[in-house]
This record gives sequence, C-alpha cells and structure tokens, in this order.
Amino acid sequence: MVEKTLAIIKPDAIKKKTIGKIIKRIEDEEFIICEMKMLHLTKEEAQGFYIVHKAKPFYESLTDFMSSGKIIVMVLERENAIYHWRTVMGATDPALAEPGTIRHAYGFSIERNAVHGSDSPTTAIWEIDFFFKNEGNK
Ligand code: UDP
Ligand code: MG
Repeated sequence: MVEKTLAIIKPDAIKKKTIGKIIKRIEDEEFIICEMKMLHLTKEEAQGFYIVHKAKPFYESLTDFMSSGKIIVMVLERENAIYHWRTVMGATDPALAEPGTIRHAYGFSIERNAVHGSDSPTTAIWEIDFFFKNEGNK
C-alpha cells in the first residue's frame, strides 16, 4: 500500500553536515519527498511533538535536544513508507543499529540518533498534521 510517513533530520545530523547524504538515501530508497521544510522548534513545540513520551525519563533531555538547533521535516511517500523508513533508519540506539542504516552511519547516541520516523499509520497522520496541518496528508 502506498502511504506517507513523517521523517525528521535531527539537530545533530544537521550540525554534522549530513543533510545531503540523508536526502540522497531517501531518494535512492524510492521515496517521493512530498513536503519539506527547515525549522527551529521551541522547547514547548518539541514537548508537544513528543507528548507520548512525557512520562519517560528521557523526555526533558530529548526535548532540549530537539529544540537546540534547526531540524528538517519531510513527508515521505512510497509503498510501505512507515515500515520501510524505520528499516532504513535502524534501531533507536545507533550502537544497536544494523550496518547500512542511517542511525548506524550518522547517529551519535540513543538520544542524538540523526533521524525520526513515524511508528504507525495513526502516528504518521498525527505527526504529518503537527508540521503540515491538513496539507501534508493530502
Ligand atoms: N530517546 C532517548 N533515550 C531513550 C530512548 C529514546 O533519548 O532511551 C530519544 C531518541 O532521540 C528517540 C526518541 O527519544 O529517537 C523517541 O524515542 P522512541 O522510543 O520513539 O524511538 P524511535 O521511534 O525514534 O526509534
Ligand atoms: Mg518513536
């Protein structure tokens, strides 16, 4: 099934100048980039985006990190986009991510792991709306 997912290039990957390499990989994986923008989240916006993790011990540090610099958010489309993008990203902890995955290549730590991807169809719709209002899901 052709579907959409939300991808983010996180502040660590932008500071390391890996935007180009990550976007090349996205295109090599046959995703269509439907929407894309660069922005700098406030702490409050980062807290809103990661609200599902509010009770987790890493929430405070994660939302500091995600509001520490610019990010790039994208809507990606292809067959099985959600699962495929998570496979290309690799495990949350770059130390456990398979060789060939983006997090293995560019991640620094379990927090500073270069990229984000939606984890389910419901989450994808919510996350796309978070950044692109109703436009992103069209
Ligand atoms: N994270 C963290 N510490 C942890 C687990 C996660 O700092 O122990 C951060 C990391 O940046 C991760 C994000 O919180 O990408 C969201 O966590 P999730 O479990 O949803 O991982 P993901 O879906 O991004 O692989
Ligand atoms: Mg997640």
